[in-house]
Amino acid sequence: MILSNCTKDDIDGALDSVNQKYKGNIRLNNYQQLSGTGLRHRVTLRVIDSKGEGAHISRHMEIFGGKPRHTTSACWHVHGHFIDALYGTKITSGGRVFNAGDMWSDFNAGSVMFPLYASDSCNCT
Ligand SMILES: [Zn+2]
Repeated sequence: MILSNCTKDDIDGALDSVNQKYKGNIRLNNYQQLSGTGLRHRVTLRVIDSKGEGAHISRHMEIFGGKPRHTTSACWHVHGHFIDALYGTKITSGGRVFNAGDMWSDFNAGSVMFPLYASDSCNCT
């Protein structure tokens, strides 16, 4: 995701805040500063332990009787908490724009026949 109008310190603070909720399992991946002013960044959220808190679980194979696959991607909830912790920051991800405090919007990551919502793709309660 692309973060605009925040500093690296803001990002680190948001990461600390998220890690308090997810037992320290969240990390930044592929961090890149995109502007000379230090106010534009590219970052991916990942988990340290794919079976730990905040891990995205791919459930597509469950539809066909298979097992869910634990991934190192951070889940929808982690992204929501991270965005909320970056007040005043514009976040662009997957062609969509988010701002801290916006209502979290869930989406169907499956298909019409086999709906699978982003918010259901993890073990968060
Ligand atoms: Zn979750």
